Amino acid sequence: QAKAAGRNTQRFFDPDMQAAVSNRSALEADLRRGLQEKELVLYYQPVVDGKGRLQGAEALVRWRHPRRGMVSPAEFIPLAEQTGLILPLGQWVMEAACAQLVAWSRSSLTRQFFLSVNVSVRQFRQPDFVEQVLGALDATGANPERLKLELTESLLLADVEDIIARMEHLRRYGVGFSLDDFGTGYSSLSYLKRLPLDQLKIDQSFVRDLQTDPNDAAIVRTILALADSLDLGVVAEGVETTGQLEFLQRYGCKAFQGYLFGRPMPPEVLERALRPAL
Ligand code: C2E
Ligand code: MG
Ligand code: MG
Ligand code: MG
Repeated sequence: QAKAAGRNTQRFFDPDMQAAVSNRSALEADLRRGLQEKELVLYYQPVVDGKGRLQGAEALVRWRHPRRGMVSPAEFIPLAEQTGLILPLGQWVMEAACAQLVAWSRSSLTRQFFLSVNVSVRQFRQPDFVEQVLGALDATGANPERLKLELTESLLLADVEDIIARMEHLRRYGVGFSLDDFGTGYSSLSYLKRLPLDQLKIDQSFVRDLQTDPNDAAIVRTILALADSLDLGVVAEGVETTGQLEFLQRYGCKAFQGYLFGRPMPPEVLERALRPAL
């Protein structure tokens, strides 16, 4: 066998690759454990209007690792998607976010908030996805009208009719939908028109160099014009400077998310920020 494989055999013994594979399965086992041990936490990043007033927040998962400290989702969400761990993880996020929504709905400062929850493609394609969301709403008593689900364009590579049907089902309960990282994926404009969406989120990669890169500036203006003509809301992601904010406002953007207004933070920190006097 080794002989037949010829010189390609060497890659089986490539120590770097070996290390990568065992790192990956070690990470997988560790994530499975972390999920069980309730090491995942939700942070919340403010979404604000042009005057900086809070409209809602996006739930962003973090892994509070006993040894590694706070681990970013960029490090474990892709792995969770590959291994299927995203299913229990996603369900936990949905329930925890809905529970937070209920806690916030008791306060006059946050009663009108919406909460956005990221949903991965694999999670959305689960046959019982709609039941899972309705189950989380039901179990917590959260108001579906205050919940927004963030989907990505990669979802649209599969059966679009089925996707639309699921979205319509949840919309009948009042759940809203955003298309996340818009502009980075594959959506054709005809799908965009048919999907029952509430808003587009302009990906931060276009916002970053808005003021120096004419292509990015053109893309952002085009997305804003498109959203306007399709009657969709828009949230600009990754807003870090007042220059970016002014540009976005000039072309009609009305909702913003980014470090200029606040980083993702634990819920009690967000609440404290709302009551600076206390
Ligand atoms: P996303 O949904 O597009 O979330 C926005 C990301 O941009 C967040 O990264 C946020 O911290 C970051 N960000 C916000 N404002 C700024 C800014 O002004 N500048 C810069 N440079 N970055 C900013 P984060 O929290 O690391 O999350 C990364 C991605 O992981 C998310 O991108 C989302 O795709 C995924 N993710 C996070 N939580 C979940 C989850 O609960 N479920 C699923 N399926 N995916 C999640
Ligand atoms: Mg998102
Ligand atoms: Mg995004
Ligand atoms: Mg993203």
